[in-house]
Amino acid sequence: MRVNLLDFDAAALAAYVESIGEKPFRARQLLHWIHQRGVASFDQMTDLAKSLRGKLGDGASVDALPVLKDSRSADGTRKWLLDVGAGNAVEAVYIPADDRGTLCVSTQAGCAVNCRFCSTGKQGFSRNLSTAEIVGQLWWAEHLLRRAGLAATEGERVISNVVLMGMGEPLQNYDPVVAALRLMLDDNAYGLSRRRVTLSTSGMVPQIDRLALDCPVALAVSLHAPNDALRDDLVPLNRKYPLRVLLAACQRYLRYAPRDFITFEYVMLDGINDSDVHARELVSLVRDVSCKLNLIPFNPFSGSGLRSSSLERMKAFARVLTDAAIVTTVRKTRGDDIDAACGQLAGEVQDRTRLQERTHRLPPLVVAR
Ligand code: SAH
Ligand code: SF4
Repeated sequence: MRVNLLDFDAAALAAYVESIGEKPFRARQLLHWIHQRGVASFDQMTDLAKSLRGKLGDGASVDALPVLKDSRSADGTRKWLLDVGAGNAVEAVYIPADDRGTLCVSTQAGCAVNCRFCSTGKQGFSRNLSTAEIVGQLWWAEHLLRRAGLAATEGERVISNVVLMGMGEPLQNYDPVVAALRLMLDDNAYGLSRRRVTLSTSGMVPQIDRLALDCPVALAVSLHAPNDALRDDLVPLNRKYPLRVLLAACQRYLRYAPRDFITFEYVMLDGINDSDVHARELVSLVRDVSCKLNLIPFNPFSGSGLRSSSLERMKAFARVLTDAAIVTTVRKTRGDDIDAACGQLAGEVQDRTRLQERTHRLPPLVVAR
């Protein structure tokens, strides 16, 4: 079977190159050709010896996921539906802004965490993505957008920031995610700074600690509730890693983090987690953690039975936080006309967890005002 070179971070590529009887520095050349120049054909890698090109042609390839659909939003956001086989598809989203270009990457087909307000979660879980499938989203999008002329100057990168906020819980797919992160940071590949790569997690505590040592990128934690009773219901993983344990992990991560704060995400659900009482509870909860709060309007999807808080309510909620000196932003929704906003990424998932069936047996949502 051919190996896909997108699966290899620098160390793995060096080991592969050695295994075919070549010098380790060839790995660096390959990283340049593949990740910096977007070349997939070994014939075009002109500074490699013909014999090496031959060996690579026989045993290796550079394959990103096939694109099933390419959607463009009126605000410049672009979404790709990518085929991951067996009837599954995931999504990647490019979000341009004045001073940056952000790519939102998926890490799993579906997600097993099953948060109440998330359309990915509602579909159940099919499988983890490989390193090639994760970093391939960046490889493909970056070079496509460059070819489309989006780089300010020739050879300059288009994507300056990556967020692991697409489909899936990245820390439930740890090793492939970390290898993909290493490639994003590698100077011979994308050379992104740790501050510009953000991993978002619903709270996998042991893996937060591992990430601090293995590859400490910027961390976002999906909080969504100020107490365990409500969070147990919204983010079922809370039953395993409750808030006290999660916040202690955030404190530990801060010693390694590339920024001196953790970003807490909080999706604003009308009548569920958005009262001033909740805001005050949130203030006491996060008071001791150096953090910023992102309030995300709930992005609706069919059958969710939930509504977003009004802008007025979000502003009032934000005021309680800012009055307590917590830096708070109300996030703008981008790309909602193409269902590319947070939590709307649905792709196509063949559920292997019988989630729909099990969900019927969960108790009704706690509504605390
Ligand atoms: N699994 C990870 C990363 C993917 S979700 C996590 O949960 O953090 C990325 C962000 O989108 C999370 O903060 C998540 O809570 C939020 N999100 C999920 N569904 C949403 C929805 N319908 N509207 C707004 N944000 C949502
Ligand atoms: Fe999974 Fe994140 Fe969606 Fe929760 S919000 S179901 S963890 S993708």
